[in-house]
Amino acid sequence: MYRNPCTILKSAALVLAGALLPASLAAQAAPFSDSLLGQVRALERAQRGERPLAVHVMKIVESAGPLANYVAGADSQRVPSCFPVFQIRWRDRWIVVDAGLDRETITRFYGATNRLTYWPDRYDRLQAALRDADHVVLTHEHLDHAVGVTRGPYFRQVAAKTLLTAEQMQALLDPPSRGIIRLGADTAALFPTLRYDRLFPLAPGVVLIKAPGHTPGAQFVYVRLASGREILLAGDIAWQTEGLATGRQKPDVTVRSLGEDSVAVRAQLDWVRRVFEEGAVSVVLSHDSRSLDALVARGTLVNDFDLALP
Ligand SMILES: [Zn+2]
Repeated sequence: MYRNPCTILKSAALVLAGALLPASLAAQAAPFSDSLLGQVRALERAQRGERPLAVHVMKIVESAGPLANYVAGADSQRVPSCFPVFQIRWRDRWIVVDAGLDRETITRFYGATNRLTYWPDRYDRLQAALRDADHVVLTHEHLDHAVGVTRGPYFRQVAAKTLLTAEQMQALLDPPSRGIIRLGADTAALFPTLRYDRLFPLAPGVVLIKAPGHTPGAQFVYVRLASGREILLAGDIAWQTEGLATGRQKPDVTVRSLGEDSVAVRAQLDWVRRVFEEGAVSVVLSHDSRSLDALVARGTLVNDFDLALP
């Protein structure tokens, strides 16, 4: 029987690949490989429609603590930390990323004598932004990012447009760690569930990147603005830029108490670090207050939400 020599060569190569896959090829097959940013950009380019004009940031809470609490092996200098929310803004609509937390939750989890600065007026503006958003997505299901969609004056309207990933939904129904609030089944049923594999094109200029590790439902939000500027909302992959710059994770005791998958976080942190060092994409870490201020000063982010509709 005649066999095309190419077929034979190909099958030989496949056998070889299966038996002796070089480490470099194995790494390329991993989700957080060097080709990932190219895949994200290609998916973004394939979408039709106007890209967003800006990404806004609003701090709901500010606190401070020793840098060593946020980054393993860091010194004890006190640094500011905040709980922000983000608004991806088009001329006539927006998507909100993350939902902050209310005063009651702060008191319950941080104590009545906590030293957090909380801005209730900003939380009220956030609730109006959630109500009027096209979509709401969460970088992850920890309470400082999620409580705002689970209750409030417009709860039913907000829940109906909050796309919880299947992993986030599962974690909220059956919290694997203390930092995740429990959603009752009746409440959870009011939220649409978003199922996707690795990448999801949410809107023109916006791609979700699944990144389980910090929590089971963690994801990054890549944004390309109409200006061409690229922004990566990287959630809690690191809590301060020092962690990103050095590649050091959170302190071990914190990793354990959060129930983080440190192997997954390692791969993601290394990838985000490479993106950060290449410099084409601005990386936004949720809790690094100094970095958020610097990004606002540079014009990468816009301070405060814009709730005006034309
Ligand atoms: Zn957080």
